[in-house]
Amino acid sequence: MKIVLLGAPGAGKGSQAELIKEKYGLPHISTGDALRKNLKDETELGLYAKSYMEKGLLVPDSIIVQMMKIRLEADDCKNGYMLDGFPRSIVQAEFLDKVDTLDAVLNIEVPFDVIIERLSGRLSCTCGAIYNKATHHSDKCLKCNSQLYIRADDKEEAIRNRLDVYTETTAPLVDYYAKKGVLRTIVGAETIKDTFKRVQVVLDQISSRE
Ligand code: ADP
Ligand code: ZN
Repeated sequence: MKIVLLGAPGAGKGSQAELIKEKYGLPHISTGDALRKNLKDETELGLYAKSYMEKGLLVPDSIIVQMMKIRLEADDCKNGYMLDGFPRSIVQAEFLDKVDTLDAVLNIEVPFDVIIERLSGRLSCTCGAIYNKATHHSDKCLKCNSQLYIRADDKEEAIRNRLDVYTETTAPLVDYYAKKGVLRTIVGAETIKDTFKRVQVVLDQISSRE
């Protein structure tokens, strides 16, 4: 199956993606993770994207589309995939429509006050695991024991930009996909487990259809 995880920054797309990957075996394609890897490796793309990412602004569509075109052609995408952080604008969604047909777009809905609380206490690991200072009282990852870090764009000013960009540029995708009949709304304000239960209902339905 081919699905998209939609939702504001901090809605929990990354956490759900980890669980979906484990249970359904779908490759997890995260544009944010891919860009951060480029940044770390100091590739041309990474150096270019850096200033946008640190401020919490979108990297230009043309760059992202170029990157995703290559990624979606890879062999592991033939039988399905899960996109996290893409598409993030109407231009990107229109590109995706041209190359593929989606089974569902899961819109993870979380109120903004909850999101701000989550992002401002977020600790990240390079393995993809995510924790929160409020509940994780160590600077090591439970999965791989690496040193956790605070993302450059999890600082207050950047968080505000990311939420503004979401409202202006990404939120219109909710209507866009509703009109296409593929939108599925998931309440994401509770725990990761609660949200995953709701995600499974949708994905089990889709896989029984296949
Ligand atoms: P979050 O969803 O928590 O904001 P991501 O890890 O998905 O974080 O993305 C981090 C940053 O990477 C974004 O703020 C943006 O600068 C850039 N980025 C990721 N995906 C895209 C995209 N599809 N289009 C443009 N920029 C993107
Ligand atoms: Zn880790």
